[in-house]
Amino acid sequence: MTKRDSEMKKLIYLDNAATTRTDSRVLEFMLPYFCESYGNASARYSVGYEARAAVNEAKKKAAALIGCESDEIVFTSGGTESDNMVLRGVLQKGKGHIIVSAIEHPAILNTVRELEKEGISVSIAPVDDKGLVSVERLEGLIRQDTALISVMLANNEIGTVEPVAEIGEMAHRHGILFHTDAVQALGSIPIDVKRMNIDFLSASSHKLYGPKGVGFLYVKRRTGLKPLLYGGGQEDGLRSGTENVAAVAGFGEACRLAKEELGPRAEEVKRLRDYMADRLLTELEEVRINGTSQLPGNLNLSFKGIQGSSLVLRLDMKKICVSTGSACAAGGEKNSHVLEAIGLDRQWLEGSLRISLGKYNTPEEICTASDMIIEAVKELRGDFSND
Ligand code: PLP
Repeated sequence: MTKRDSEMKKLIYLDNAATTRTDSRVLEFMLPYFCESYGNASARYSVGYEARAAVNEAKKKAAALIGCESDEIVFTSGGTESDNMVLRGVLQKGKGHIIVSAIEHPAILNTVRELEKEGISVSIAPVDDKGLVSVERLEGLIRQDTALISVMLANNEIGTVEPVAEIGEMAHRHGILFHTDAVQALGSIPIDVKRMNIDFLSASSHKLYGPKGVGFLYVKRRTGLKPLLYGGGQEDGLRSGTENVAAVAGFGEACRLAKEELGPRAEEVKRLRDYMADRLLTELEEVRINGTSQLPGNLNLSFKGIQGSSLVLRLDMKKICVSTGSACAAGGEKNSHVLEAIGLDRQWLEGSLRISLGKYNTPEEICTASDMIIEAVKELRGDFSND
């Protein structure tokens, strides 16, 4: 065992909403596409056909996970690109109106801010204190020129699952297209795009134990969409650029494994998450849970009287990886827009921590991490003297 291996062994990774460890079965599956079947998927000879077959197989596996046809899957570089692609692809330059929720990921919120500068009208739907969007409030924002409603399936910070089937149904009643960012939901909860009335769905491989830098956009058949990238016309002209075959194949395999293992995987993750929540809530004072924790691995907490960022640093010294808010917000000094949107007071806002469990976490790890979080909060509050 190398020094790095033994260091990694001690690490307790509880930031699976930021990214996940690649499943070794996925990595194995990807390897032949680097040095053996390395052809361009558009080439007309054997290694090219092998690469094309891998892309087609990955499409089938991705489609099976969300209940669509394989020709409705467009591979992209990840969730950010899929989100950008649908927003820019539906809205005509400088024309039209879009409705999004206040707790979308920056991949949506920053894109609509840019679109606004280009002349698109944007309405932001508020959420309640659990992070839920109201279908009636959304409906009230509809205008004659509304082209798209985009509401995420599950929130990346507080784990709230939005009523997408109802939102999609309502959007369709008004003849409006409906997009959902399912980056956090895919592989964690069941998804059926037909039953959920979804026209477009964004997904990202690295959130479900696949490689980084690959994702897909589900585009319902016969739904018009303007490409974001032009070039060689790959992916039925919707996403030009030579396919990243190894990554696509890995993502497909991650989807297949997720479909096969989803139920038991979610149950065990939820069991460990509930154990941790129970311990932190009973052994610490002045702590609250933010959101609904409907995503099995999500636990968003606020500890009164301490800074979430100090807690993250202290836990890092104890080899525990967690984050404040989302990974993107965590880099800066800004408060989480999600926690602000649910109306959290300042005193709770600053002491927030996002813990996200995954399939590799063991009961022993969760037990140790619970001890260490309790210890770190007490240290930061300076109330160890009583113990
Ligand atoms: N949407 C949500 C809800 C996310 O959580 C993330 C990543 O954290 C993204 C989009 C962006 O995905 P990617 O990292 O694949 O660009």
